[in-house]
Amino acid sequence: MTEPLSLDDPLARIDPRIAGRRFRAKGPPADEVLAEAFGIESVGALLRHYPRRYIDRSSTAAIRALQAAVRPAKQPRLAVVGSEGETREREVRPGQEVTVIGTVGSVATRRTRRGQAMVTVVVTDGTGRLELPYFNQPWMAKQLRPGMEVAVSGRVGLYRGRLQLQNQQVEPLRGEEADTVHTGRIIPVHPATDGVTARTIRELVFRALQRLRRIDDPVPADVLAGEDLVNEDTALRAIHFPEGPRELRAATDRLKFDELLLLELAVAFRKRRLERHAAGVAHDPGANLAESFVRSLPFELTEAQRRVMKEIAADMTEPRPMHRLLQGDVGSGKTAVAVYAALVAVQSGHQATIMAPTEVLARQHFRNIEAMLEPIGGRNIAAAPTGARRRGQVTGQADLFAGGDDGSGGPQQAAAPEPIVLANGPRYCLLTGSVTGKERERVLAAIRDGDVDVVIGTHALVQEGVTFGDLSLAVVDEQHRFGLHQRMLLKQKGASPDVLIMTATPIPRTLALTYYGDLDVSTLDELPAGRRPIETYLARTDAERAEAYELVRVEAKAGRQTFVVCAAIDESNKNEVRSAEAEAERLATEVFPDLRISLLHGRMRPLEKEANMRAFAAGEADVLIATTVVEVGVDVPNATVMLVENADRFGLAQLHQLRGRIGRGEHRSWCVLFDESEEENQDARARLAAMARTTDGFELADEDLRLRGEGTLFDVRQSGMPDLKLARLADDVDLVKRARARAFAVVDADEDLAGHPELLALMRSTFSGDAAEWLFHG
Ligand code: ADP
Ligand code: MG
Repeated sequence: MTEPLSLDDPLARIDPRIAGRRFRAKGPPADEVLAEAFGIESVGALLRHYPRRYIDRSSTAAIRALQAAVRPAKQPRLAVVGSEGETREREVRPGQEVTVIGTVGSVATRRTRRGQAMVTVVVTDGTGRLELPYFNQPWMAKQLRPGMEVAVSGRVGLYRGRLQLQNQQVEPLRGEEADTVHTGRIIPVHPATDGVTARTIRELVFRALQRLRRIDDPVPADVLAGEDLVNEDTALRAIHFPEGPRELRAATDRLKFDELLLLELAVAFRKRRLERHAAGVAHDPGANLAESFVRSLPFELTEAQRRVMKEIAADMTEPRPMHRLLQGDVGSGKTAVAVYAALVAVQSGHQATIMAPTEVLARQHFRNIEAMLEPIGGRNIAAAPTGARRRGQVTGQADLFAGGDDGSGGPQQAAAPEPIVLANGPRYCLLTGSVTGKERERVLAAIRDGDVDVVIGTHALVQEGVTFGDLSLAVVDEQHRFGLHQRMLLKQKGASPDVLIMTATPIPRTLALTYYGDLDVSTLDELPAGRRPIETYLARTDAERAEAYELVRVEAKAGRQTFVVCAAIDESNKNEVRSAEAEAERLATEVFPDLRISLLHGRMRPLEKEANMRAFAAGEADVLIATTVVEVGVDVPNATVMLVENADRFGLAQLHQLRGRIGRGEHRSWCVLFDESEEENQDARARLAAMARTTDGFELADEDLRLRGEGTLFDVRQSGMPDLKLARLADDVDLVKRARARAFAVVDADEDLAGHPELLALMRSTFSGDAAEWLFHG
């Protein structure tokens, strides 16, 4: 026991008896379970397995106090039983996190009408009784037995009029442990799993900390000097066994800072590496194709569009590759910006691609872009080679198309304002999964030989090994569907094309500063003039539903259109939500037999989808019942009503996207969110309330981050990015900024981190898979 331990040692070196402890006689030992379940193979990794909560005497409450909290009228005096049995007064509020120490009284199992096991465990503590319901978790009846002493934690709440601890967590306490709790230590409870108890983990951590020498600080002294943070050794010890809340807080801040610093270092490192090494294309902003395009648009650009186009053009002019995120709320006019950027590439003699996440969207982009390019002589290379050819090549016929302007573009052409337009209108094409056969071959050849300037398609463009002759700009629409991996593949398509990622789901500021922190950000924070704000209503009753349908009818009479979005395609869904197929049938026969009803969902064949979408866009249906295929980008300015069924099932970002399908024209628009959730579903209620409160995508994005946490916003784990164990982007804005400033200062003074081998090593060991590739090579 005297030999000191190192962070790289295996768990068995802490104490072979604890590390080898088996939960079941023939089960695997604790260290194997920890390696398997959490990837913990070393002392260092064990110490990064932070407690998920603490059992602290100061948060221990008597059941009577909880009952009083949810039924204040009956029990005005609130009391908490302290460790020595003395009674202290403390208020317990609904929603508060508390721990109850008690004894399991009874455990009953019964079957619900739907045949699911329902286990009810009753815990008593001498002041009252607390019921713990377990739906469909029959094994709980085996884990908790009458007479067992347990710590139950959760949030104080009511369920069907009864006291309930929401997100209840139960931990059996045994012998020594029960004592420790009662003597008032703060006890860490680490995430455990089947085969290893929190208690075993706690003992391992405790022994390890006893035997570890002072833990070196990975963060350079000069960085720490300016930050008011405790050192690593203190922090790592205190996060597991804090003396009190203040120490815990200091430890947490320090370790959060570490997480954020590492992320920011990576971001700074990658950003600077690309800026230094990757040779990109220095585009020519002076040529007039992009400018002609802007002048040919049927509307005035918004100030925001102008500003963003300038930012992009300036970036594209630089020889280093652009990595820019364009965020703009739905309807803010990103497409025009994308086309502008594409034309900067084209006028500089290169190719551009604009990619969307789905076929429907790619085709819609294609239609919009085709219309936008028409006035400057755009040519679809896949179209029958009639008009397009003539327009581009034959001088004598140009006036047919251009009102008298000679289209030859010859140098002798006097004062023709847009000669390049008529002679060399940008050539474009569509490439998606449903472009097949001969047409596909033709398109692929043109892309390879540089015979097409702008390629519009799905993200599959990147995945399917399409070869570009000379790609210098890739625009990626809807970043949220587009992972790190595709971002890198994309880069291999051209030498180092400029990349513009567009997202209509605004990224909360802290996220833009962290996981997207290597990107420069342009923001369209203005909607084109004349847009009417969308009115949003929540509908919970039959009367409200009837009103919503009346609105649909009135709007249809006025020539407007309605989307009805369902969470499922057909009735076979397990979640018992209204399905698109059933609703389409019901609306067509029972509710709107007089209206034209159409259907759109993901299981239809692409051509059928396209046909239905096109028909709706052309006003040939009054009501389109759809699944979330219409979520992103679908543009039908004549649609003024959006009904969302089971809106409580959708995330905020999704709801915001759905709502963005209306209010795109000059008409007044309405969004009705049907909510059939239980009143207890507080998260759903909070989401819907936020939707009704604001239409500002940035505000909603922040709310979303706050409600859900960063882990769910995008798949950190899968990408190999280190996840944040302690830091919360929604709450730790200040720490994010501090870490970012420090990280960039370090990298700017030491570009390849040659002087900081320990940081480099830390980055190498924390970033894996795609993320490592992204960091060091991609
Ligand atoms: P999003 O940012 O959601 O992709 P779009 O680019 O699809 O928005 O633009 C939405 C609609 O607004 C389109 O019909 C587009 O033609 C139109 N639009 C874009 N910019 C302007 C503008 N400056 N003034 C008026 N309408 C515009
Ligand atoms: Mg769009």
